[in-house]
Amino acid sequence: MPNEDLADEFVALTRRFVDDRVIPQAPELERDNSFPDTLVKEMAEMGMFGMVIDEEYGGLDVDWRTYWRVVSELSRGWMSLGGVLNSHIITAHLLKVFGTEEQKTRYLPKMATGELRAALAMTEAEAGSDVAAIRTTAVRNGDTFVVNGSKMFITNGERAGLVTLLAITDKDVRPRHRGLSVLLAESGPGLTAGRKIEKLGYNGVETVPLSIEDLRVPADNVLGGEPGRGFYHVMTGGEIGRLNVGARAHGVARAAVDEATRYAMQRHTFGQPISNHQAIQMIIADMVTKTHAAAGLLDVAADAIATGRRADMEAGMAKLYATEAAVEVVMSAMRIHGGYGYTKEFLVERLYRDAPQMVIAEGTNEIQRMVIARSHFGRAAKATRA
Ligand SMILES: Cc1cc2nc3c(=O)[nH]c(=O)nc-3n(C[C@H](O)[C@H](O)[C@H](O)COP(=O)(O)OP(=O)(O)OC[C@H]3O[C@@H](n4cnc5c(N)ncnc54)[C@H](O)[C@@H]3O)c2cc1C
Repeated sequence: MPNEDLADEFVALTRRFVDDRVIPQAPELERDNSFPDTLVKEMAEMGMFGMVIDEEYGGLDVDWRTYWRVVSELSRGWMSLGGVLNSHIITAHLLKVFGTEEQKTRYLPKMATGELRAALAMTEAEAGSDVAAIRTTAVRNGDTFVVNGSKMFITNGERAGLVTLLAITDKDVRPRHRGLSVLLAESGPGLTAGRKIEKLGYNGVETVPLSIEDLRVPADNVLGGEPGRGFYHVMTGGEIGRLNVGARAHGVARAAVDEATRYAMQRHTFGQPISNHQAIQMIIADMVTKTHAAAGLLDVAADAIATGRRADMEAGMAKLYATEAAVEVVMSAMRIHGGYGYTKEFLVERLYRDAPQMVIAEGTNEIQRMVIARSHFGRAAKATRA
């Protein structure tokens, strides 16, 4: 059972951490594209890496509404911190729901403390939206799988001690997605991170290609112990990822609202603060409304995930709306800053570079629309039959 007593306290603790520790350091870390070692250590001490892990494995086991609020707070300070958590929390959730007892006991306690952090490696150079088109293969040889291939755009891929890796374990089965499995691969020989990909924003946290050459993964490390379930596993993980990305977008939008509000109240034109001009008030009204609407959809998604049933529609709607809203809200904040918003002196410049990542990652928003429509029609057809 999620630990409800902790919820508000944990969000408040995160808020203070962001105000006191993250906001002062983020500009320099982002400018230098440096990994935030100290902040990540402090996040680990606060228990953030164990947020969704059961108490019996050393986690805090907070509910999903609390999880997204914590990610939003972090991202209000710096979106990259929300990204450090994402693949780790997805992996923790997959272990919790699908892992064998042995897999849970081996990995969850170390993941709860942050001693072991996880990356998620699905995407390949030729397969992003079309996950089932991956080419990385895992061939059974006795009690190990020998894995060969490559992955692209893997966030946390250089520092993670555990890589949750999607591979083909049966190339002949049709449809293809039934031949995929998730392997829990520990970093080591056979798994090599390439050079950090240079990005528009989302700096500090590394995103890398991975090359996989004769990587040996024990057969016991197939998630859940049974091959062929990988596609279903990553789709379930995607719901958690979409909650994270939507929450990140919410945090970025809040930062943009805060910055624009402050600026509008102190910047004068024509003898008065620009916040008195109706044109600025209209822009701010839309910014605030969209940010609050995103929070509503994130709660809907969190509650749907908490039921344990498929929540692809709810998580998709939250991700779609919150990320599109973030892009618009950030652009509005830039408008309100006038010429200064276009300089590197003001935070909105960074928010403007960070926001588009969330429209693309964890399933593009075109793919979200497809998922939402498919679920919607599926539910409508079921209701008609009932
Ligand atoms: C900074 C960053 C971090 C990332 N981190 C990770 C990570 O940690 N792990 C990981 O596995 N992946 C990661 N990704 C990969 C990300 O999930 C993919 O980039 C994303 O899913 C899109 O895949 P793609 O880039 O191959 O685009 P494509 O799939 O080639 O899509 C190109 C365009 O076509 C559209 N499109 C594709 N198919 C359809 C269709 N059927 N109908 C309509 N439109 C369609 C897409 O919406 C998009 O506009 C990351 C990406 C970025 C940029």
